Amino acid sequence: MRTIAATGFMQFSHGDPTMTRPCACCGEPFEPRLQVPDQTFCTSPDCQRGRKREWQRAKLQSDPGYRINQHAVQQAWSQRNPDYWRRYREAQPDYSDLSQQPMTTTAGAIAWLIL
Ligand SMILES: [Zn+2]
Repeated sequence: MRTIAATGFMQFSHGDPTMTRPCACCGEPFEPRLQVPDQTFCTSPDCQRGRKREWQRAKLQSDPGYRINQHAVQQAWSQRNPDYWRRYREAQPDYSDLSQQPMTTTAGAIAWLIL
């Protein structure tokens, strides 16, 4: 865990190196990105997944319009990438694992990038 967090820290480390805070997920010290001054999660993949889940859950609860907007974004994305899931399944022999990762995971990540 420390190795992953340290890698993310190195990767995004810029500016004042003393401006660190403990990650709300793993507790490792990290430096918030300049664009995200109130960042509370470090850059490790596990913590980022937790952050997005938290953000989306809070967003869905606080903003009914977001739910509709996200749905529209997912639909638009699916229409632009009609072959994505077919190619994904062809590249993933153990496609059954997908049942643990609903399609909204990737579409939600795309929505996260767009919004
Ligand atoms: Zn973390």
